[in-house]
Amino acid sequence: MGRSSKDKRDIYYRLAKEEGWRARSAFKLLQINEEFNIFKDVSKVVDLCAAPGSWSQVLSRRLRGQDREADPKIVAVDLQAMAPLPGVIQIQGDITKVSTAMEIIGHFEGEQADLVVCDGAPDVTGLHDLDEYIQAQLLLAALNITTHVLKPGGTFVAKIFRGKDVTLLYSQLKIFFPKVTIAKPRSSRNSSIEAFVVCENYSPPVGYKPNMSNPLLDHHYDVDFNSLEGPNRIIVPFLACGDLSAFDSDKTYPLKLDSDKDYEYHPPTQPPIKPPYETACYLKKNDMLAKLKKTQQTNEGDKGAHYA
Ligand code: SAM
Repeated sequence: MGRSSKDKRDIYYRLAKEEGWRARSAFKLLQINEEFNIFKDVSKVVDLCAAPGSWSQVLSRRLRGQDREADPKIVAVDLQAMAPLPGVIQIQGDITKVSTAMEIIGHFEGEQADLVVCDGAPDVTGLHDLDEYIQAQLLLAALNITTHVLKPGGTFVAKIFRGKDVTLLYSQLKIFFPKVTIAKPRSSRNSSIEAFVVCENYSPPVGYKPNMSNPLLDHHYDVDFNSLEGPNRIIVPFLACGDLSAFDSDKTYPLKLDSDKDYEYHPPTQPPIKPPYETACYLKKNDMLAKLKKTQQTNEGDKGAHYA
C-alpha cells in the first residue's frame, strides 16, 4: 500500500512509466535541455554513470534519426550492467579507474565529444560529509575524463551535491569552463541536496595537457609529476627563513651556550592542562607502574619476558 500510493503521488515516476523512460531522472535531463539547449548540434556524447539508462534513452531518442549525415555516437558507462539501447555503446566500469577512462577515450578514436553528462551518485551512507565527499570525487573523475574527450566549446553537465564545501568544486570547474551554472530541474525533489552543474564553453588553460594523475582516484597512475610543465604543474615558491647565524634545528647544542652563564632551567610557560600522560606520571611517582618481569630466559635474550 505504502509503495503504490507513493508511486501514484510521484508524478514524474508515473509519467516515466507512461512515456517508457527507464527512470524518472529522464525528466531532469530533458528539463536541463529545455533551459540550456545542450543538445544543439551534438553528435558525439558520453553518458557517465548511466544505469539504468534513462539519460541514454533521452540522448538516443533526441539525437538519432534527425536527418543527420551520420548516426550520433553515444557512449554510456556505469558500474552496473545496463540493458541494450539503440545506438548506445555501453561500457561496464568504474569511472574513477584509469582503465575505464582509457576505454571511453578509445571509442572516440581521436575525435572529440560535444557533450559529456554525468548523473553519478554513490550509494549514500547517510553520513552527509562522507556522501558529499564521495559525490565530489565522482564529479572530479568525470571532469578528468571530460578533459580528455570534450572538444573546446563543448558542454559538461554533472550532478552535484550542494553541501557546505561545494564552492571548492565550483572553482575547480571554473578553471575549465568560463560559464558554470547550477540547475535544479523541477523533477529533482526540493528535499534533495542534488542539483546539476551546467558547464559551458570548454576552454582549458592554455597549454593544459589532460592526464590521469589524480592520486585520490586511482593509485595506479604513471605520470612523472616532475616532468609536468606550464599550467599542468603548479610550483609554489620555497623560501628558507633565517640566515646562517640562526641555530640549526637539527643540531644538538651543549646546555651551557654562553661560557659566562650556567644553564638555567625554565618551566614550560603554559603546562598542558590535562596531559594524556598524567596517569602514567602518577603511577610512576607512586611506584605503581607495571614492571618487566623475566619469567623465562631464552638464548634470544628477553624474548620470554612479560609484564606483571
Ligand atoms: N542517469 C541514470 C539514468 O537516468 O538512468 C541514473 C544514474 S543513477 C542516479 C547513479 C549511477 O551512478 C548508478 O547507476 C551507479 O552505478 C553509478 N555509479 C556510481 N559510482 C560509479 C562509478 N565509480 N563508476 C561508474 N558508475 C558509477
